[in-house]
Amino acid sequence: MSEIQYQSAKTVKEAVKYMQAAKGKGYILAGGTDLLVQMTSGARTPGVIVDVKKIPEMVSVVEKNGSFTIGAATPAAVLGENKKLRKAWPGVIEACNLIGSTQVQGRASAGGNLCNASPAADSVPALVAAGCIVNVAGPTGKRKVPVEEFCTGPGRTSLKPGEIVVSLTLPKRPKNSSDAYLRLIPRTEMDIAVVGVGVSLGAVAPTVLLVPAAAKAIIGTKLDKAALDNLAAACSAACKPIDDKRGTKDYRIKVAGVLAKRAAKIAQQRAGGK
Ligand SMILES: Cc1cc2nc3c(=O)[nH]c(=O)nc-3n(C[C@H](O)[C@H](O)[C@H](O)COP(=O)(O)OP(=O)(O)OC[C@H]3O[C@@H](n4cnc5c(N)ncnc54)[C@H](O)[C@@H]3O)c2cc1C
Repeated sequence: MSEIQYQSAKTVKEAVKYMQAAKGKGYILAGGTDLLVQMTSGARTPGVIVDVKKIPEMVSVVEKNGSFTIGAATPAAVLGENKKLRKAWPGVIEACNLIGSTQVQGRASAGGNLCNASPAADSVPALVAAGCIVNVAGPTGKRKVPVEEFCTGPGRTSLKPGEIVVSLTLPKRPKNSSDAYLRLIPRTEMDIAVVGVGVSLGAVAPTVLLVPAAAKAIIGTKLDKAALDNLAAACSAACKPIDDKRGTKDYRIKVAGVLAKRAAKIAQQRAGGK
């Protein structure tokens, strides 16, 4: 069995230094709900594990001028307990609070969900719909990445060697607006999404899709039947899902349209519309 080093970083700079020194064999440990499972199955064999949970800015929620910056390793349960965040971004929070079970949410972070880059990740469609910005730090400094450009394929991200995700910024919400996330799973809980919709789509393509035609279908409308049908058609047309035991391609394409309609109606009600 190969040796694994454990490093607990106290600052972002220290975490980046450990990751750089690991020369591609370093893995950030946030909640570990993906990483430890992958290590047990042999899918990941880290040389160094860099624990970031003792870095204050990576486990906190900061509100500034109406925008929220969420530390990448903050557990989903902590996000759900933040009343202001829940009020501003109910769709993002309901997505984070669908991850696994109460026990899993005590550990699992939105940053880990994003960096694991599963097409079925629940928080990612909601973050894309929210216009989230990913704050990245690395050996050459800091950079900001629009969340829809972060995942480049199943299990792949645009992080460069030595880079880590420090936090996620949700912009100030315009008045009379809201969001919603819905997913379809074969069981009532503890399952991964067959389809997830946060007015953008997840689990229906190798990466989350931002669908401009879907936005075009409903902007300026009262979300009447015709507008919702156009929204559903745009979402279904954009899907490139897989066929597997959880759902056929045709089924996922159909459900993506249905969930998009429902999510849009929920977001409208939350925003104060009729
Ligand atoms: C029983 C169970 C049920 C689950 N149910 C769901 C579900 O319903 N929906 C769902 O979406 N997921 C589910 N998951 C998967 C998992 O819980 C989530 O993806 C979770 O959000 C991962 O977060 P984490 O903090 O535990 O990440 P970790 O396991 O710590 O990390 C995940 C990956 O991202 C990397 N990483 C983490 N943080 C950073 C960072 N800041 N910078 C760079 N790289 C980083 C790690 O190195 C690792 O490769 C489930 C897992 C289990 C075990």
